[in-house]
Amino acid sequence: MKISLRKEVWEANLSLWKTGLVYGTQGNVSGIDRKDGVIYIKPSGVVYEKLTEKMIVEVDFNGNPAGISGLKSSVDTPHHLFLYKNLKDIGGICHTHSKFITVFSILGSPVPVLTTAHADVFGKEIPVSRYVDNTEDSIGRELLRIYKKTGCSAIILGRHGLFTLGETPSKSAFYALMAEYCAEVSYYALIAEHLIGKRIVPLDKKEIEKWYSRYHSSRYGQK
Ligand SMILES: [Zn+2]
Repeated sequence: MKISLRKEVWEANLSLWKTGLVYGTQGNVSGIDRKDGVIYIKPSGVVYEKLTEKMIVEVDFNGNPAGISGLKSSVDTPHHLFLYKNLKDIGGICHTHSKFITVFSILGSPVPVLTTAHADVFGKEIPVSRYVDNTEDSIGRELLRIYKKTGCSAIILGRHGLFTLGETPSKSAFYALMAEYCAEVSYYALIAEHLIGKRIVPLDKKEIEKWYSRYHSSRYGQK
């Protein structure tokens, strides 16, 4: 049975909290209904423990409230809207300040492809943008610039956190989970590299492409 977009957005938001990707009220997932001209997104300043399906905020493409919740939408709503307007193929966006991703955002270093799990999901290093403030469209523009350059569904925002772009809201939350996993594994591997004095090199480009295309083909998973 197909669930409503509101419910999917709610569940995707809760999944961030259940998997430890968000702290306090921070982070958010949204989903877009292009036919009805609305997006669903987490309300601003609400803790995940208290977040109900009805509290998910519906806004039109100009950011005006369009639904029943009566709550203010996330302060990150303008960035989500900017990306939806400029990338017609995406259906969900997720934003977190998850711990290990944030370490890479502070370093200004991309997360290298060290494992097949990383190659499977992203097929390339997770890029990092320069620092931008949150006035007007500056975050959206910087994310769009990096996405057009790399095509990566996860982008680290310099000195900030992570944005992921998915076909659906739940896919975007999954990308955030996997990006954090890759960042954590890479972080420890890169530290161990110095402790043990052994050089680590990223997986070979051809191998990365092989894993990525297998994972994204119909051969993987259930029908
Ligand atoms: Zn943020």
